[in-house]
Amino acid sequence: MADDPFENMLAQMDRAEEYADVDHGVFERLKHPERTLKVTLPVELDSGEVEVFEGYRCQFDSARGPFKGGVRFHPTVTQREVEALAGWMTWKTALVDLPYGGAKGGVICEPKELTQNDLESLTRRYTEGIRRMIGPETDVPAPDMNTNPQTMAWMMDTYSMYEGHSVPQVVTGKPLEIGGTPGRVEATGRGVSIVTERLFEYLDRDLSEATVAIQGFGNVGSNAARLLDEAGARIVATSDVSGAAYDPDGLDVSALAAHVSAGGLIEEYVAGETRADRGDREGDGSADRWDDPDEIGNDELLTLDVDVLIPAAVEGVITADNVDDLRASAVVEAANGPTTVAADEVLTERDVQVVPDILANAGGVIVSYLEWVQNAQEFSWPLETVNAELERRIGTAFDQTIDQYDEKGLPDLRTAAYTLALERTASAHEYRGLFP
Ligand code: NAD
Repeated sequence: MADDPFENMLAQMDRAEEYADVDHGVFERLKHPERTLKVTLPVELDSGEVEVFEGYRCQFDSARGPFKGGVRFHPTVTQREVEALAGWMTWKTALVDLPYGGAKGGVICEPKELTQNDLESLTRRYTEGIRRMIGPETDVPAPDMNTNPQTMAWMMDTYSMYEGHSVPQVVTGKPLEIGGTPGRVEATGRGVSIVTERLFEYLDRDLSEATVAIQGFGNVGSNAARLLDEAGARIVATSDVSGAAYDPDGLDVSALAAHVSAGGLIEEYVAGETRADRGDREGDGSADRWDDPDEIGNDELLTLDVDVLIPAAVEGVITADNVDDLRASAVVEAANGPTTVAADEVLTERDVQVVPDILANAGGVIVSYLEWVQNAQEFSWPLETVNAELERRIGTAFDQTIDQYDEKGLPDLRTAAYTLALERTASAHEYRGLFP
């Protein structure tokens, strides 16, 4: 069942059940999403053609508060994937103790083939489609793969037009000018960097001697790379859909980020297409410090002999097929659901520490919550306040997960995180009771 993310999520729950203090009836209830809406989205493209897209919004569980979760634009989106991601959001918000439930949205499309106008039309049509479900007190979307602050601005505007007044609180991850918070764009990557540092402290290892490979160099991967680089780790490999760059002495993370944010692909970077013009950026000969990276495949990146592997792209990349070749001693799951349960069992047996996705990538939803709170207060906080609150909240969740793992002698950190999340969600269900 490695290919079905929903089955993978259920199997993760099952692994935790024997250790979690949760009534079996409530546990069974938690295996089913509250509802999923499927919408058909006819959009007139810039080309003049009408294309019919399909989208989803899954609301998994709301016992702890309004639904919360991102929206993904990707060709491989399926209803099952959206439902799995909504489940993971439920466990994530519970683990980091936010007053939210979990949700997720997705639209099946290839954003690279759409113009900016096409993307705006599609986003607005999707927002209209799910408008009946979302709202500042019911369900609050945010960015995910291939969506960004501009996407959130279109969603906020479309929703607000129907309401007749501005409703910034209906989405998070907005541009600053319309109620976004400083620190949101980099929040998930910052959280990944914080938990990696905490893991090294816990393992009594020195991060400044660590090598790191990161699969995916988008929002999450690139920010995690930058912050871990600043924290002293050596980023030796990273990738995007086009391929991976590898240099055992360390990559020039800021040059790579500049290349990618200008729309470049990693395979072009490795081929030297933009490195040739990058010249001496610092004006101090610094360009000479960096060797030319080698091109390796995305699969090879996963099996490099590094201290930390950070999958930051898609789910289901560490599987029974490649887990025996993995050489990293720690895995920090920046992506959602990157490890199948079969692979997880092997990693646990081999004592490879895996910081699970519901903890490792929770920085984004934590700062989304801080944005939502600021919108409700109609007050904005400085970046330092946001970052300090992010660090406090994700640090607390990390410590609680470690305490659970050590005190209960649990097999791995994922089981520890799941037992905490399931117990908190189940407890909310028990207090609220079964309606009617
Ligand atoms: P993004 O679209 O900004 O970047 C995705 C990156 O992965 C790109 O570099 C892309 O080229 C690469 N990629 C895509 N498919 C790939 C494949 N098959 N093999 C290798 N690389 C591939 O997305 P993002 O926002 O950085 O999200 C990455 C992951 O992090 C997703 O799993 C997402 O659910 C998760 N996540 C994101 C946030 C957030 O705040 N953006 C929060 C929590 C979790």
